[in-house]
Amino acid sequence: MARDAYVNGRYVPHARAAVHVEDRGFQFADGVYEVVCVRQGRLVDEDGHLDRLGYSLRELRIAWPCGRRVLRLIMRGLLQRNGVRDGLIYIQVTRGAAPRDFRFPAAARPTLVMTTRRLTLAANARTGVRVVTIPDIRWKRRDLKTVGLLAQVLGKQEAAERGAFEAWQVDGDGFVTEGTSSNAWILTADGALVTRPAGHDILNGITRQSILKIAAAEGLRFEERPFSLEEAYAAREAFVSSATSFVTPVLRIDDRIIGDGTPGPLGRRLLDAYLAHASGIGAS
Ligand code: PMP
Repeated sequence: MARDAYVNGRYVPHARAAVHVEDRGFQFADGVYEVVCVRQGRLVDEDGHLDRLGYSLRELRIAWPCGRRVLRLIMRGLLQRNGVRDGLIYIQVTRGAAPRDFRFPAAARPTLVMTTRRLTLAANARTGVRVVTIPDIRWKRRDLKTVGLLAQVLGKQEAAERGAFEAWQVDGDGFVTEGTSSNAWILTADGALVTRPAGHDILNGITRQSILKIAAAEGLRFEERPFSLEEAYAAREAFVSSATSFVTPVLRIDDRIIGDGTPGPLGRRLLDAYLAHASGIGAS
């Protein structure tokens, strides 16, 4: 089936889809994005993703490229054209194309691009993954989902070269911030589900927010607080969460085995609850 992309008001063949060479996304990473998972034809947590898109745009003073309702229609139009029932949709908005100058252009219109991919998401969610740790070298507004992802590119490449699925970034005080494209979780030795609180230090994952709601609805003991790498090494279970990995168990962090080295019961329970949520069943 032919695949289209959406670029500034048009559906165009994916292979020929392009933006201007002076687009500020290309030149300055002056733009933001979202990735929404599509499962059995449903857009999972669509409102949460569009809310966060609005937050990133507002904080960076980039205008919405079109109304939210129109954006939703375009998303559906592209998914339908491309026959995507399971996969993802990628949405990017930049400040637009203008002669290269750091200052905001007086008259640029935001660029809106969307692409889709058909794929099986969370392929490792039942079997688990390895993570390695790296220093967090990113800027101080990690709450904004910007396309400035060079630190994450380097981190994910390092993870791959060290045989891991993800790299957990560690701050200057020895606390885990998050993965390069996922949030980080542990189940402590004494039975608390822990993840770093939302703030400027991490991206507040939409999947993270859904898992916290599930944990609250199921009466699980959870704590939003920073956790150290040492605490992570000693954890009973560990997980990563994101729109594309759902809740995936971490079986090894660096050279330390987590728990007994197999997916644990809490991970399974959270994954099942998240899948039910993604299908529109049950709480949250
Ligand atoms: N942290 C970072 C740095 C990410 O890039 C992502 C993926 N977008 C996440 C966390 C997880 O966010 P979400 O659950 O919204 O996919």
